[in-house]
Amino acid sequence: NNMDKNIDEIKIDEMKIEYSESVLLDVSGLSVSFNQYVKNLKQVELNVIHDLNLTVKKGEIVAVVGSSGSGKSLLAHAILGILPSNAVVSGNILYNGELLNDKRKKQLRGREITFIPQSVNYLDPLMKVGKQVQIGMDKKDASKNQKKLFSRYGLKTKDEVKYPFELSGGMLRRVLISTSIRPEANLIIADEPTPGLHPEALEETKNQIKELANQGKGVIMITHDIHSALDIADKIAVFYAGSTLEVALVSDFEGEGENLRHPYTKALWKSLP
Ligand code: ADP
Ligand code: MG
Repeated sequence: NNMDKNIDEIKIDEMKIEYSESVLLDVSGLSVSFNQYVKNLKQVELNVIHDLNLTVKKGEIVAVVGSSGSGKSLLAHAILGILPSNAVVSGNILYNGELLNDKRKKQLRGREITFIPQSVNYLDPLMKVGKQVQIGMDKKDASKNQKKLFSRYGLKTKDEVKYPFELSGGMLRRVLISTSIRPEANLIIADEPTPGLHPEALEETKNQIKELANQGKGVIMITHDIHSALDIADKIAVFYAGSTLEVALVSDFEGEGENLRHPYTKALWKSLP
């Protein structure tokens, strides 16, 4: 009857409120396939991510580790809405309790949800790097904020007016990191942000990520560098063949690793130098 129905609705509302307070991102049942043409022009669907779940709370740093090809970058691209057009995506991505569609992902991308891509090829080859860091920033403060980021990452004023081809790989990585660190960012997705960085820039990047989390932002850090992950993350999502095998606490990797549950994760722990 009507009375019961109301009670049910109230319960659902309360759940939503509780939910939206602590959870920033909730990926559930995510699957990604690609339509591909093989021999004889037969079309096949190649499934690369299946039934993947991941939650990021406000103020939390979640490291994503897993072998190459396990779907880490695709997870990032699915959240950001930048998968290629032959990708078939299903599952839910909730951001602040809101179910994201492609249009909404585009609105949030580069503003509330920022990205440090794995490849420096994401930079526009025809745009000066200073301008690229300013994209999406409030016009009034854009130049000032960009300069701050540049000096923080050891980039010089003269570098602002350079094009990507004029900078070294390490410098381009620092430009990429700068593009994602902006005041309005709420969720930062870093896809292997640290290779090629010299030790100082690595420290600065880790500190910067910790600072963002302290401000209540959520961070997904995809990395091969399990030591960096253990150093700054709150939890470690272990990927294998397109799915999350286990989400472990950093403390689970301490001692004998006896709290780790999955054999693959245990093997990963054993392989730590
Ligand atoms: P990683 O964990 O190394 O970041 P990726 O997420 O880049 O892995 O890729 C996961 C799998 O999906 C890989 O096997 C890769 O070959 C495949 N893949 C990625 N992009 C495409 C694409 N556009 N079409 C077909 N397969 C793809
Ligand atoms: Mg990758």
